[in-house]
Parts: sequence; structure tokens; C-alpha cells
Amino acid sequence: MENVYDVIIIGAGPAGMTAAVYASRAGLKTAILEKAAPGGKMVETFEIENYPGFSSVNGADLAGMMFEHATRFGAEYLYGDVKTIRDLGAYKEVVTGEETFKTRAVIIATGTVERKLSIPGESEFAGRGVSYCAVCDGAFFRDKTVTVIGGGNSALGGALYLTKFASKVNVVIRRDVFRATKTVQDDVYANPKIHVIVHAVPAEIRGTDAVKSIVLKNVETGELTEVETDAVFPYIGADPMTSFTDELPLEKDHGYIVTNDRMETGVPGVYAAGDVRKKDLRQVVTATNDGAIAAEEAGKYLA
Ligand SMILES: Cc1cc2nc3c(=O)[nH]c(=O)nc-3n(C[C@H](O)[C@H](O)[C@H](O)COP(=O)(O)OP(=O)(O)OC[C@H]3O[C@@H](n4cnc5c(N)ncnc54)[C@H](O)[C@@H]3O)c2cc1C
Repeated sequence: MENVYDVIIIGAGPAGMTAAVYASRAGLKTAILEKAAPGGKMVETFEIENYPGFSSVNGADLAGMMFEHATRFGAEYLYGDVKTIRDLGAYKEVVTGEETFKTRAVIIATGTVERKLSIPGESEFAGRGVSYCAVCDGAFFRDKTVTVIGGGNSALGGALYLTKFASKVNVVIRRDVFRATKTVQDDVYANPKIHVIVHAVPAEIRGTDAVKSIVLKNVETGELTEVETDAVFPYIGADPMTSFTDELPLEKDHGYIVTNDRMETGVPGVYAAGDVRKKDLRQVVTATNDGAIAAEEAGKYLA
């Protein structure tokens, strides 16, 4: 069949870019469809210290190296926001806002999207003080007060990064303990710019042209307190990006695509790799692992 790809990879994060290296290097006609810049979540990470071979690397730099590698063996990199995938037996259709692509196999590597607080003011002040990416927007808040919501690794990593710019960083957590790993917690407690607010959840973001304060609710007493802040960075978890898979009978768990160890979904020729699939550890190194396996298995399926 003409104009039919062997493999289309959806998403150019570390999972998708690794799949592209393996698929194109194996001689498969490969395309990567990405709706934003290549790199995925790595672009949002200032410093990665746990990717083997790099004791410390800037996330955007690692993304650039992976992109160069991903396209070196002939994989086509295409802009495309995938809206749906159809399984037509002999081939699959991958439909973006503009085009329909035909392919014999698909690797879904679309990662996750940050969960919203869903409180008044959040959408109103998005881009005007509400941000989901400290690395992208932290520099706008030099010598200001900022507030991070959440106590996991991403939240505390974001808070530590923000101390490079902000004069004060509030960290708001529902309980009185963090979920983050101990080394990250130690760095947070040792940083004089970070002020931890416990037993609190955000109730409202207020401002005029930009964010001016956040209203916090004490989960034990119900008391509301207005805290001055110039920015709010919610880091309360993420959900898998799978809405475009509704036409496929994929098994999911809390939205995450269920695969076996070979990254196979229940649909022949459709694979999932990286954060979008059900698994325990969502990291760059596990995403690259998944991408390599998915491409290898797609090659076997097509042989
Ligand atoms: C703040 C933060 C810090 C982190 N720090 C570390 C760290 O230090 N070390 C570490 O190992 N991991 C870290 N992680 C986790 C790591 O970044 C992820 O596990 C990894 O990026 C997942 O890779 P992925 O390829 O599965 O998905 P992603 O990196 O999320 O990439 C998915 C890509 O798919 C694209 N996409 C989504 N939907 C569509 C669609 N419909 N059409 C086309 N394209 C689409 C997205 O635009 C995105 O580019 C961090 C994450 C965050 C948020």
C-alpha cells in the first residue's frame, strides 16, 4: 500500500523518541506525531539526576539530544494533535485535526496531563500567575512570593527550582507529611526560602489583572485564610492522555492503558509506552525502556 507507514508513534516524549530510534533504525517507515514541542515532560524539568550516563542534565538539553537521535535514522517528525485512531484491520487510521494518516502499527506514547485544582480563579488566572510548569514560568517571578500546591516529587522539585527566582516559596500540603522522596524533602527543609503550610487545601485564587492571593482552607478546622502570592503552581498529580483512543477497545485502569510486558494492548498492532500506560514507576528511564520494547514488538508484528 502506498503512503502507509509501518509505525506511527503518537507523542515525542522520551518514550516516543526512543521508539522512533528503534523503529527507524530497524528499517521501518516511521513517523512521530507530536502536538507540541519535542521532549514531553522533560522540557518542564530543570535538572534530571537519575538518567544513567548523565549525573546531571537539563531536561530541555536531554530532550534536544533525544530528538536529534530520534530523527537521525529517518523517522519523520510531524506536527499533529491526534484526535482519534481507527482500526480498519489491514491498517489503522490516525486522525489529527488536519490530516488522516494510514499505518500498520501504532505506538501510543502520549504521557499525562496535569490535574487541575478546579477552584474559582484557576482558569481565569491561567497564564497570569497560575502555571503548571515551574521550569517554564519560574523566571517571571523574580523576587516575588509564589505558592506551590502539593507534596510529591514534582511539587517539591518545582518548589526548589522556584527558590532560584522567588523571594519566598509557600508549599501547601493537605496532610503534615510529604509524599516526596527523603532526599528531596531534606533539600526542602534546608532551604530558608521555603515555607510549608500544612493541613490546607486551596479554595480560591484571587487577583485583578494577575494573581494577588490564594485562599486556603484548613482541612481540620475549616478556617479560611487568605495568603498573598504572585503565582500559584498546582502539582497535584496527572491523568493519562487517552481521550483520542475511544474508538479502540483498549483495556484501561483509571484511564491508564493496560499492556503486557511487550507493551501490547489488547488490539493487535497497537502498543502503549511511557507514562500513559499502567505501571508503577513513571520516569524518563522507564519511558525509554517502554519505547524500545514497543518498537521492537511492532517490528515483530509487521515481519
Ligand atoms: C516537573 C517534573 C519533573 C520530573 N523530573 C523527573 C526526573 O528528574 N527524572 C525522571 O526520570 N523523570 C522525571 N519526571 C517524569 C518524566 O518527565 C516522565 O516520566 C517522562 O517524561 C514520561 O515520558 P513519556 O514519553 O511517557 O511522556 P511525556 O514526556 O509526557 O510525553 C508525551 C508527549 O505526547 C504528546 N501528546 C500528548 N497527547 C498528544 C496527542 N493527542 N497528539 C500528539 N501528541 C500528543 C505531548 O505533547 C508530549 O510531548 C518529571 C516530571 C515532571 C512533571
